[in-house]
Amino acid sequence: MTQSPNPGAPDVVLIGAGIMSATLGAVLKELEPSLNMTMFETLEDCGLESSQAWNNAGTGHAANCELNYTPQREDGSVDISEALKVNTEFDLSRQLWSYLVRKGAIPDPRSFIHPVPHMSFVWGQENVAFLRKRFEAMSASHCYYGMEYSDNRAKIAEWAPLIMDGRGNEEPFAATRIITGTDVDYGALTHLLVKHLCAQPGVSVRYKHRVVGLDREDNGAWRVGIEDVDTMQRDAVTSKFVFIGAGGDAIELLQRSRIREGHGYGGFPVSGIWLRCDESAVSDRHHAKVYGKAAHGSPPMSVPHLDTRIIEGKKSLLFGPYAGFSTRFLKHGSLTDLFESITPGNIVPLLAVARDNITLAEYLIGQVLQSSAHQFAALRQFFPQAARKDWREAVAGQRVQIIKPDEHRGGVLEFGTELVAAEDKSIVALLGASPGASTAASIAVGVLEKCFASKLTESGWLPKLREIIPTYGIDLTQDAAATRKTRAETAAILKVENI
Ligand SMILES: Cc1cc2nc3c(=O)[nH]c(=O)nc-3n(C[C@H](O)[C@H](O)[C@H](O)COP(=O)(O)OP(=O)(O)OC[C@H]3O[C@@H](n4cnc5c(N)ncnc54)[C@H](O)[C@@H]3O)c2cc1C
Repeated sequence: MTQSPNPGAPDVVLIGAGIMSATLGAVLKELEPSLNMTMFETLEDCGLESSQAWNNAGTGHAANCELNYTPQREDGSVDISEALKVNTEFDLSRQLWSYLVRKGAIPDPRSFIHPVPHMSFVWGQENVAFLRKRFEAMSASHCYYGMEYSDNRAKIAEWAPLIMDGRGNEEPFAATRIITGTDVDYGALTHLLVKHLCAQPGVSVRYKHRVVGLDREDNGAWRVGIEDVDTMQRDAVTSKFVFIGAGGDAIELLQRSRIREGHGYGGFPVSGIWLRCDESAVSDRHHAKVYGKAAHGSPPMSVPHLDTRIIEGKKSLLFGPYAGFSTRFLKHGSLTDLFESITPGNIVPLLAVARDNITLAEYLIGQVLQSSAHQFAALRQFFPQAARKDWREAVAGQRVQIIKPDEHRGGVLEFGTELVAAEDKSIVALLGASPGASTAASIAVGVLEKCFASKLTESGWLPKLREIIPTYGIDLTQDAAATRKTRAETAAILKVENI
């Protein structure tokens, strides 16, 4: 830990030591090396909550394979606009990581990112027709150059033998594949970024320190109250800028700040269970992330998938997540989190969401009541010859979805992420959980544009920002040449596939 020269009044306070604070901190420090920053983290280390490798799926979410990003329209056509947005947001993350590798801040990209093809796999006439249409729409865009489609048993078996072994011919099936996909260990990446930050002057990370208060001072700065989790001793620092990157807890801290813009927000926690297989005889036969179609009523981020994971140099398989309901906002949180987040200000949106999302509630209750035999049966739909003895349960991270006020319906449930900032931009909270870690660089850029717009000038931060993220300001969904160039460059640096 490096001690900040003015520990009582850092320029920037980052709450939480997950991938989001680490990414924003790394970007800000590149843009303005003289900034003093303090990061507060309740736990004993960084990247232990949702960003920890086993708590998320590690998909370098390029929206290649997740069918929930490509809904079917009423007329039967497939809308790929959300997929394109997420797909090109991941390019910004690749550029930031490549910059840090080039600079030597990340010694070896293989410590956090590996090439793993992304596939979508469906069965049943209707789903096959949908996948075909989705493939036609996507492969027409330069962003999905190289995507392949097949409904041929031998071809799909070549791509992913486990999903075809023992599968009958009762139903038609089809798959798409894109070999430029990745598996990312966001926990390892968080460690690399925090280590890099701590090695710089003016940065300090205080573990086992929980932020318990956010109060405005007369001069507009924030008084950040902290508690030592071992001694319960309280202390405070003041700062002109606060980033609430507290994952599921961000909603609670936003409420503590009492900023007008946060009024009426609430959170809806979704928990998750994986099945995990560390048997190399099995994992060595699967090298892909294979996403299926979500069950009716399930939240969009609960699409089942059979994933190759490469964590600390070891290959494993992960299947799930089986979504569930828990009242905790963090895996290490408290069962009272949800109840404590209910305020007179958000009760109307919360009740409106409860009224409008009966199918989701039924789905989650159904998932919680599922026996492990049911869960295993779901895996067998993907991997027909899976053996129970090779798999064990693992608890995933918590995802707190956003509930926000809505003029017409009283309140809505949102599955994306949102930055909620005070009018004077002195504090900003990141709410929501999807698409998540993969888009951390895009979220950091969002914070810059929202809170530091006056610095984004040619004489200010812009030239350096373009050095870090060369396509900043370019719409990659429209610019094929820029997309090809950045993908080729970042693939070479990050040692992943390019086509
Ligand atoms: C099951 C699952 C699957 C996922 N799959 C993917 C995927 O495939 N690809 C992808 O890109 N994303 C995925 N995500 C989302 C991704 O994991 C998150 O978006 C990302 O990790 C969030 O990072 P964060 O830094 O905001 O939060 P976190 O990693 O949760 O970090 C927040 C930190 O804040 C700390 N904290 C909280 N309150 C306080 C406080 N009061 N004071 C001090 N510290 C505090 C916590 O202890 C924690 O360390 C998945 C998530 C889940 C749960």
